[in-house]
Amino acid sequence: MRGGDGYSEGLPVDLVTMEKTDILISGGGPVGLTVALELARFGLGVVLVNDGTETALHPKANAINARTMEHFRRHGVGPELRAAALPSHYPTDVCYVTRLTGQELARLHMPSSADAVAEAHAGTNIYDCAEPPHRCSQIYLESILREATLSRPGVDVRFGQRLESFRADEDGVVGVVRNLEDDSTYEVAALHLVGADGGRGAVRRQLGIRYLGDGGVTRKMMGGSMLATLFEVPSRKDWLTIDPAWQYWVIAADVRALLVTVDGENKFVMLTRIPDGIDPDDLDDHALLALAAGIPVEADILLRMPWTAGHELLAESFGGDRAWLVGDAAHLFTPTGGLGMNTGVDDAVNLAWKLAGDVQGWGGPNLMASYEADRRPIGARNLAFARSFADSIGTFDVDPCIEDDTESGVVERARLSMLLSDHVHREMIIPGITLGVRYDGSPLVSDDGSPPVPDEAGVYVPTARPGHRAPHVWLEGGDALCDRFSDGFTLLRTNSDIDAGPMISAARAVGLPIEILDIDSADVRQRYEAALVLIFPDGHIAWRGDACPVDARALIDRSRGAL
Ligand SMILES: Cc1cc2nc3c(=O)[nH]c(=O)nc-3n(C[C@H](O)[C@H](O)[C@H](O)COP(=O)(O)OP(=O)(O)OC[C@H]3O[C@@H](n4cnc5c(N)ncnc54)[C@H](O)[C@@H]3O)c2cc1C
Repeated sequence: MRGGDGYSEGLPVDLVTMEKTDILISGGGPVGLTVALELARFGLGVVLVNDGTETALHPKANAINARTMEHFRRHGVGPELRAAALPSHYPTDVCYVTRLTGQELARLHMPSSADAVAEAHAGTNIYDCAEPPHRCSQIYLESILREATLSRPGVDVRFGQRLESFRADEDGVVGVVRNLEDDSTYEVAALHLVGADGGRGAVRRQLGIRYLGDGGVTRKMMGGSMLATLFEVPSRKDWLTIDPAWQYWVIAADVRALLVTVDGENKFVMLTRIPDGIDPDDLDDHALLALAAGIPVEADILLRMPWTAGHELLAESFGGDRAWLVGDAAHLFTPTGGLGMNTGVDDAVNLAWKLAGDVQGWGGPNLMASYEADRRPIGARNLAFARSFADSIGTFDVDPCIEDDTESGVVERARLSMLLSDHVHREMIIPGITLGVRYDGSPLVSDDGSPPVPDEAGVYVPTARPGHRAPHVWLEGGDALCDRFSDGFTLLRTNSDIDAGPMISAARAVGLPIEILDIDSADVRQRYEAALVLIFPDGHIAWRGDACPVDARALIDRSRGAL
């Protein structure tokens, strides 16, 4: 494979004196950094510019889902992430309370990180995968991802540098970058540009791509103007009398708040709804915290960030030709269900191997267009799930009697207890959303006519039906099957008597990176229901069958976007 030297042979001659790379990435949030790590698997040259000088200071995402953890496992940062954030035996329960010193209304017990990993190995975790979900703030995540990029040859990550604009033609793109330290500008020529620069990103705006859908839908919680406050306390003893949890939702008549523990100890983030017409600067964080707790709380306010919830916005296009959108640049979520970053990471993985195919020449002319065909429907799907969760937690009323020691108080608490117990299962137990992603309409996938499985938030049916994520199986010795997949395509063979030669030859004839993976396991045979399974570099299934197809070249061509 070519790449890794930051030089792109295919660039027009007039750009030869300019700084050159294969891929220019605008944005070094979790999604841009993931794109860089993914491209490094293929040895591509990458320049990533990020206008901030540091990784996230504010804990936005806290929920890293199972699929994202599988990707990070592939990049070798799984153990580091597990060691970050909450102590490994800290419970990840979600609870709903009248106040933090008040009464508990509902609780979903969820395992600590250590227990979740043990359950996954024992096959008892509700997420049937190699890496169960993990609760880790974006503060830790981004710094671990950034650190990981530093050891990848060919990847040049530059913080404090902003993409100002770009020009593109059929051969490539030239980005104009401003170094914010000395205010100088320079140009970087690349074969493709990735806009991983968030909701206000330069790439989407310059492409003139609009977000479609609803923005800032208002609700009593998780809709409209919100305030996120990061704070630290000397002790949690007096004001948090509820049993330890990962999330504490305060449901009272005069306040709705979500407190999330950042480190399982004394650091928290509190999300509250800013009343309509109030300037966030006029809000007193200590007063809000006291309202949520029911008593004054001694706390250091470390950071505060006004933000807007209630978005269900999808870019009308995910890019084209030479410039592509991923992550928040492509879709803006309300964080219920924890789907924004996670959906973006899956975008990154899908896009990166296609960029590699295009740059290295083994991708066909339709490969790049399949990015939008695969990922835009998933964006729409996940936005709809997130919205339904936000409606469910953000629109009900609370009677002021909820805290009263009266019969009507008991009735109100019982009503909300039922409502919240039902809600929390729907929002927090979502293996179907995270593991059930399938690319049904993908032009690269060879449908085998097997019936579709349900696409429901809470139900994951492991299946090797083409288009789906290759299902997980533990192998003898403790590896997960996905640990054995190659960086390029994998041809999984569950019966070594079958001749895979025609497919391998057809792939190699066009330079497609592919390796045979022979696995002699009854569990794998049962789950994959085929002797041969072609798996894309992103871990989704391209095709399956019991023998090489008669026209192996046509199958390979379909999978690489050449049909
Ligand atoms: C309160 C809250 C809680 C959340 N919880 C979750 C959760 O639990 N799970 C989840 O999956 N998601 C969650 N999210 C959403 C998640 O934070 C975002 O989806 C995620 O940050 C998107 O990542 P990104 O890399 O696409 O964009 P960003 O994180 O926005 O990163 C974009 C980067 O690009 C940089 N940039 C912008 N313009 C330029 C430019 N012109 N040149 C160079 N750099 C530029 C920015 O400085 C930034 O560093 C939450 C969000 C909020 C607000």
